[in-house]
Amino acid sequence: MYQGALQRELLRVSIIILAGFAVGWSVDYPLYGLIVGLIVSQIFSIRHASSIFKWSYRQGPAPQDNGLIGYAADRIIRREKTLKERLLNQAKMLQRYNQGIEALKDGVVVLDSVGHIDTFNSAATRMLLLRKNDSGQHITHFVRAPHFVRYFRKADFSEPLQFDLRTFSLQVQITEFGVDQKIMLIRDVTERKRVETMRQDFIADVSHELRTPLTVINGYLEMLTDMDVPAPLAKALAQMGSQSSRMTNLVNDLIQLSKLESASRERNGVVFNLTNLCEQVAGEMKGYSDTASVIVEAEGRLMIDGFKDEMHSALTNLITNAIKYGDGEQVRVSLTQMDRGLEVAVKDKGPGIPPEHLARVTERFYRVDESRESTVGGSGLGLSIVKHALEHHDAELKIESVIGQGSTFSFVIPAFRVGEGVEAAV
Ligand code: ADP
Repeated sequence: MYQGALQRELLRVSIIILAGFAVGWSVDYPLYGLIVGLIVSQIFSIRHASSIFKWSYRQGPAPQDNGLIGYAADRIIRREKTLKERLLNQAKMLQRYNQGIEALKDGVVVLDSVGHIDTFNSAATRMLLLRKNDSGQHITHFVRAPHFVRYFRKADFSEPLQFDLRTFSLQVQITEFGVDQKIMLIRDVTERKRVETMRQDFIADVSHELRTPLTVINGYLEMLTDMDVPAPLAKALAQMGSQSSRMTNLVNDLIQLSKLESASRERNGVVFNLTNLCEQVAGEMKGYSDTASVIVEAEGRLMIDGFKDEMHSALTNLITNAIKYGDGEQVRVSLTQMDRGLEVAVKDKGPGIPPEHLARVTERFYRVDESRESTVGGSGLGLSIVKHALEHHDAELKIESVIGQGSTFSFVIPAFRVGEGVEAAV
């Protein structure tokens, strides 16, 4: 193709120049003829160039030429056609992709690097009450739930977030893509939350209902224990007493756990002295074991913003466990200030937890050694309570354990909850 066009172009230029030369030669001016031939061939070239220029600005038809210019125009026309087809296909794909996103039941919002809304689908419009011209606004103008605002500012999107917004319970998962862009998937979990709340209410109601008969049974058992009864009956009474107090613990822990699960995440905490609280819990443990002692080591009186009752439960459970499973050895509670917050660690010198159990010990009713647990007692809910109470303080329980040397249960209260302040009066 190209060779043919080049040959035709060269032939045309040669013919024009030779014709000029021949005419000039016939009138005895071959040089002038040659020059005229060259000028004419140049004029032809300029005309072609101008026609391709006009055509490129869509001001004239495509140059009709069988030389190089025609060949180039032909190539450009073909390339434009291919490009148009490709663009059309991409537009169709984009349309299909948009239709797919639009058809999703989950809300989708695309955000820029700082959180301004770029695009969104109808489900997001419904859940967040967005309007067409809301693009460009910041997402926190529409999702004002404090929990979400904190989550968004923290920019750690490894876990999804659940929060309530007007009549909805929403679960949000943010994923970063491209250059600092974010896609936010919003799932309506209102129904799931309703079922979950029903389940929690049921457990709380059953636990409350069990409290009264248990109190009566415990009362009669105490009365009978104080009486002079035959030895076999005394043994039976002792066993009934220990099982009944186990059940009371279980019921109390269940009530506590359901309270923690149903507590709103949007409550405001109070400022309290964590060092004092640790010392208070350590003091409460005094009668718990004859041998084990609890030492609290803190770098001053450290204040945090949180929920004192919940932190009290968490510490009580951790320290009780350290004593229960710590082989009567000393338990150390340390409070250390770090850049990222305040670390609290409860360390025992017990037999430790085998590594394969570590990930599961915070599950409800999970026990490492069933035979041992029946002797040391416990509801199996202690660490679940700890986990929930810590979540409400934006902290996570970390467990480190070395077989034969002991275990350390620690957590870090994030820096934004730690600081100066006056303890709130309760
Ligand atoms: P429990 O009421 O049985 O103590 P928890 O939820 O508090 O229930 O603890 C779950 C399990 O984790 C316990 O049964 C025990 O096997 C293990 N565990 C907890 N704390 C310790 C510890 N300090 N040392 C060794 N094992 C522990």
